[in-house]
Amino acid sequence: MYDIAIVGAGPAGASAALFAAKAGKKTLVIDNDKGLTKRAWVENHYGVMEIAGPDMVELGKQQARKFGAEVVDDEVTDVVREGDKFVIKTAQGGSYEAKRVILATGISVELAEKIGVRTKPGTEPRIKTVLDVDAEGRTNIDGIWAAGTCAGVSVHTIITAGDGAKVAINIISELNGERYVDHDLYQPKS
Ligand SMILES: Cc1cc2nc3c(=O)[nH]c(=O)nc-3n(C[C@H](O)[C@H](O)[C@H](O)COP(=O)(O)OP(=O)(O)OC[C@H]3O[C@@H](n4cnc5c(N)ncnc54)[C@H](O)[C@@H]3O)c2cc1C
Repeated sequence: MYDIAIVGAGPAGASAALFAAKAGKKTLVIDNDKGLTKRAWVENHYGVMEIAGPDMVELGKQQARKFGAEVVDDEVTDVVREGDKFVIKTAQGGSYEAKRVILATGISVELAEKIGVRTKPGTEPRIKTVLDVDAEGRTNIDGIWAAGTCAGVSVHTIITAGDGAKVAINIISELNGERYVDHDLYQPKS
């Protein structure tokens, strides 16, 4: 049983995954490698001079793995609630159980619509439909959250990655029963 399962490993999903895994949550990320970010050349991400989209996506997955997240190449075809958990089904026949699910599916809202997540018109250029989330990232289905482009934020890597982190922090806080913060201390070399 995973604590948090994330659909999509673009900036939103991988960022959520690394925060969740670093917080000690058993974390699964499933991605079918059809993201927007692989087509981007990025020069406007704070702290990064420039980076090719495919490199950013690969680094994001590596960073999530570094903290213990499991990253699976597959397509999620269904998410079904069974009691107090979700069962996540994949195209390759996989079946995974998780307490919470984050949809970070980029421009695609197909899975969300199939499983009954409420949508609304998008406001960003070329984004027709997004998921109807509250300020914390909750969808209308208790336990299913959303982050990044599919959650209607501005379509830029620093914002989608930040939104993924935000949603993960909110879920970690909910699971822990207190607000969560992840701060490491810089130790200058003497
Ligand atoms: C040509 C181009 C240039 C860009 N240039 C810039 C730029 O210069 N600066 C900038 O900040 N932003 C740029 N962007 C935008 C940037 O790529 C996006 O803002 C951001 O990366 C989107 O992140 P995301 O995680 O929401 O979505 P994505 O990166 O699209 O990730 C979503 C992931 O979910 C996966 N997925 C979807 N459905 C499923 C499913 N059912 N099962 C499993 N996996 C699934 C997809 O395969 C994908 O990997 C550019 C975009 C494009 C297309």
